[in-house]
Amino acid sequence: MIEPVLTIVVPCFNEEQVLPQTITELEKVLRNLVDENLIASSSRILLVDDGSRDNTWRLIYKASLHNQMIKGLKLSRNVGHQNALLAGLNSAKEVSDCVISIDADLQDDTDVIREFIIKYRDGCEIVYGVRRKRDTDTVFKRKTAEMFYSIMKKMGVNLVYNHADFRLMSKRALQELEKFQEVNMFLRGIVPLIGFQSASVYYDRKERLAGETKYPLKKMLAFAFDGITSFSVTPIRMVLLIGFLSFFGSCACGIYFLILKLIGETATGWTSLITSIWLLGGLQLIAMGLIGEYIGKIYKESKGRPKYIIDFNPFLPITGRQTNS
Ligand code: UDP
Ligand code: MG
Repeated sequence: MIEPVLTIVVPCFNEEQVLPQTITELEKVLRNLVDENLIASSSRILLVDDGSRDNTWRLIYKASLHNQMIKGLKLSRNVGHQNALLAGLNSAKEVSDCVISIDADLQDDTDVIREFIIKYRDGCEIVYGVRRKRDTDTVFKRKTAEMFYSIMKKMGVNLVYNHADFRLMSKRALQELEKFQEVNMFLRGIVPLIGFQSASVYYDRKERLAGETKYPLKKMLAFAFDGITSFSVTPIRMVLLIGFLSFFGSCACGIYFLILKLIGETATGWTSLITSIWLLGGLQLIAMGLIGEYIGKIYKESKGRPKYIIDFNPFLPITGRQTNS
């Protein structure tokens, strides 16, 4: 078999603290794989700068000048992890046989990259990195993640349990991925939809090497909510169901109170009245908010804006206008 050209795509947002170590480590992994003749010597690491405000891009660009194996892709502004990753995958696809995505903080075990390649060479088009245990995450993060996966499962969304964005995809799988044109890209949900032969490789997730998480609670919840509403209309159906239930419930109550009135026992009623007003008002607001969320999604999709804009692409010839600093 001819050795496949591998590109490791690493989205980076304000990662100056961890980047030098990340580059050294990934380079070592890549060299070992080349030495073992598992991948082609033209394989590379593509660092995607997602509009960082610190020294990240300067570090990337400098590393790429000294080392053929390192390439830097610069986005014009911060577009978030998923879109930055997508920019990297789309650019790498043209020049690679397979692509592995990994976070810059090296929380994912680079040792299993070798297993990814072996599975790819055995014919798998997609290889998922799955966290065996999450001891390094807080109990809160673990529990909320568990909840997220079980909600998604109940809603019929096919996610690989405990898999984040550490995975290998073949060129063919990436070509299919490009056909998914939604603006709201939730890669973890979309990739399993591609199908093809896939496999999972298990590893232990480590602590962040340095720097801090770019996903504080608020962003994490927004990400989860986005994931759910991008893939399922079940929440909106649930609201409809609750609406029906409360409608029939209030009809029953109405009949009950009418009978009470007819047989002469007037209900004093203030408490029940005020509770039902608040209850129904709350339900209506939730329902409207939820519908608004879906309409907002439709609105975004209908505009079809680009998901990212590339400022510097290492795979294109340098022209006068491609910036590099
Ligand atoms: N990231 C990015 N753009 C952003 C936020 C994060 O490219 O707007 C990158 C970040 O540099 C890292 C990866 O996405 O490589 C995952 O982020 P992080 O490790 O902070 O998330 P966590 O592991 O804590 O969920
Ligand atoms: Mg991380």
